[in-house]
Amino acid sequence: MNIARHIQTLPPYVPIEPFEVLSARLGRHPSEIIKLDANENPYGPSPAARQALADLEYPHIYPDPESRLLRAALARFTGLPAEYLMAGAGSDELLDLLLRVCIEPGNAVLSCPPTFGMYAFDTHLHAGRLIEIPRLDDLTLDLPAIRRVVEAERPKILFLASPNNPDGGRIPDETVNALLDLPVLVVLDEAYIEFSGLGQLGAGGTRLAEVPRRENLVVLRTFSKWAGLAGLRVGYGAFPEWLLPMLWKAKQPYNINVAASSAAIASLDDLDYLEAKVAALVAERERMFSALTRFPVIQPYPSQANFLLCRVARSWGEEATSPGQELKSRLIQRGILIRYFDKPGLRDCIRISAGKPEHTDKLLEALNDIL
Ligand code: PMP
Repeated sequence: MNIARHIQTLPPYVPIEPFEVLSARLGRHPSEIIKLDANENPYGPSPAARQALADLEYPHIYPDPESRLLRAALARFTGLPAEYLMAGAGSDELLDLLLRVCIEPGNAVLSCPPTFGMYAFDTHLHAGRLIEIPRLDDLTLDLPAIRRVVEAERPKILFLASPNNPDGGRIPDETVNALLDLPVLVVLDEAYIEFSGLGQLGAGGTRLAEVPRRENLVVLRTFSKWAGLAGLRVGYGAFPEWLLPMLWKAKQPYNINVAASSAAIASLDDLDYLEAKVAALVAERERMFSALTRFPVIQPYPSQANFLLCRVARSWGEEATSPGQELKSRLIQRGILIRYFDKPGLRDCIRISAGKPEHTDKLLEALNDIL
């Protein structure tokens, strides 16, 4: 066989079931499905972004390989010079690109599960050696263990999501500072930072501004969540100077399509609208949190993202080994989608994305019935 061995053994990434497929399987129209399984933004793109998509003038022309207009708009949004910024087809593409550029077969990469599955997937995809340092019981980072492993294994990259997916916990600034003192490239994934209520959408709470001052910090952001553009695939990152020329060299030339670029630029011109929707989602997350704590078998983790991770008591459900899966299937029968992870440490958990108020109402009604 001509297939590389690390691809033959690559564990597949398990994505969520596509909306259309699910709608056909359940025999329900998409409008009757409440989709709280992928941390998408149920309000969708801003009116300005929708208009920009309707008005696309040059979809028949290849896009700018350097995404200059988008990066200029991002520079205004974030306060960071455009030279430090690169856009990707979702932050997923930038994760892949980073590993493609930095990792040779066998190089160590650190991840702290439970966390976003693409860190492990992309590391395996690029024949890296994944070292996992599990989070503590409260899902915070095991800083002493990370220190020890960095010293012993000299990994090339440490992946951290803040707020973390699946629990929504933000890494305290002191911990990020301590990690940045280690000899490793820290990739800080801020996909959900806009929901952490730390000020302006562009510059609030983020560590972006530090990238030019640090040799070992990459910050990744996305338009998928706060700006409602998950289906268009547009993310961006800030990278240290030494890394940028290599990323530009290795990137696919036309990675950001013209529709994604136009919609993202228009979103940055419609911040008041998007800010109001982010606030609505945060309010819904908080309402859902208080309501869920009233079910004795459900225990949500505090979250600064647009979702809640909840432990479901092991005493509940017929299949006691995975109460999360049981609850997920009972909710699907009612047209409500949530996320269950068939992974160690998470089999008694579910993750529920914040939706519109009427989605929370339906969810709570269903849980009242089921529990
Ligand atoms: N990082 C984290 C922590 C995520 O949860 C996600 C989306 N699930 C991504 C990155 C990928 O986002 P994008 O849509 O920009 O590829």
